[in-house]
Amino acid sequence: YDFLIVGAGPFGAAFARTATDLGKTCLVIDKREHIAGNVYSKRIHGIDVHMYGAHIFHTDNEDIWEFVSRFGRWKPFKNNPRVRVGGNVYSFPINLLTLHQLWGVSTPAEARTRLDEVRVPCENPRNAEEFLLAQVGHEIYELFFRGYTKKQWFKEPRDLPASIVTRLPFRLTYDDSYFHARHQAIPVEGYTSVFANMLDGIEIDLGVDFYSMQVDWRRFARQLVFTGPIDRYYRFELGRLEYRSLRFEFETHTGDFQGHAVFNYPDANVPYIRSIEHKHFLQAGPKHIREAETERTVISYDFPLPPDHQENFEDPQYPIRDEVNTQRYMQYANLARHTPEIIFGGRLGEYRYYDIDQAIGSAISKARGL
Ligand code: UDP
Repeated sequence: YDFLIVGAGPFGAAFARTATDLGKTCLVIDKREHIAGNVYSKRIHGIDVHMYGAHIFHTDNEDIWEFVSRFGRWKPFKNNPRVRVGGNVYSFPINLLTLHQLWGVSTPAEARTRLDEVRVPCENPRNAEEFLLAQVGHEIYELFFRGYTKKQWFKEPRDLPASIVTRLPFRLTYDDSYFHARHQAIPVEGYTSVFANMLDGIEIDLGVDFYSMQVDWRRFARQLVFTGPIDRYYRFELGRLEYRSLRFEFETHTGDFQGHAVFNYPDANVPYIRSIEHKHFLQAGPKHIREAETERTVISYDFPLPPDHQENFEDPQYPIRDEVNTQRYMQYANLARHTPEIIFGGRLGEYRYYDIDQAIGSAISKARGL
């Protein structure tokens, strides 16, 4: 083969497709028994269930949108989670409706005046806390962000880089869309179908652990595309990079359980951060909801795992790009420069907090650049 690709997630699959279309031969392996990485979805009671937490595709890049559109139909979906905290439900991400619910303000000018009173100005926020306080002040920071962030990352926001929260929009309009991108959608036949189509005609070996392969990969491929953790590839010789993972619990109910796709839970005493009602990703509208009264519905809860939990090492999901980790990653990236026959990619290989489109975009350009 030209490429042995380790990992059948968004990076590995998009790399394999692009390289194959350019006339290269690829073998894709994955330690899991399924493709699509953490975007994997499975049909349960007729509902496409996101097995590793909610994934909502969004992109502004027309090339990437065209690319994913080749592999299935997509239905526009606007992510506007609700936040359940202190017994109330709020609109989220923070927008004029949230500020109305909190403070009774109803116009951008009223909101701006109120915010100017509570903001803690900071020209160059050095961490997530300073950034948030400068945007929204103490009350909103405590209510919506501090507890959630501590649950998600097991660190105080002041010990985390601002970049983890700059992803979130903050608007003085009634627009409650989580993402700003031109294309925001969910695959009609499910994510797994999109990735199966992307990998169509490409050799795939599932349930194969790269580290337990008995034969040196160089014996059957010219180049290696590695989408696992870069520090693990190098046997942690420069120290460990930190990752955070989630554990998921599933429940089945009937009817419409929570009335919305995504709820966030910033309360410190609630052990999960999100609950997802999967059928709301694709099925909406009064007709469906009536029909749904007797139908099953699948709910999942996202539980952050503590830093020392084994799963963070076995199945890492989020790179923690604070200063120490970023510097350590740069050292690994330097090491990788000495082995140009190995291409590291994706969230774990590049140690980046990639969204699906970014992982795919990185894969396409790396595959084309060769
Ligand atoms: N966040 C928060 N409260 C929320 C949602 C998000 O404090 O209700 C913060 C939290 O620190 C989180 C970050 O914003 O890690 C980014 O959130 P996002 O929803 O983008 O995280 P992901 O979907 O990648 O888990």
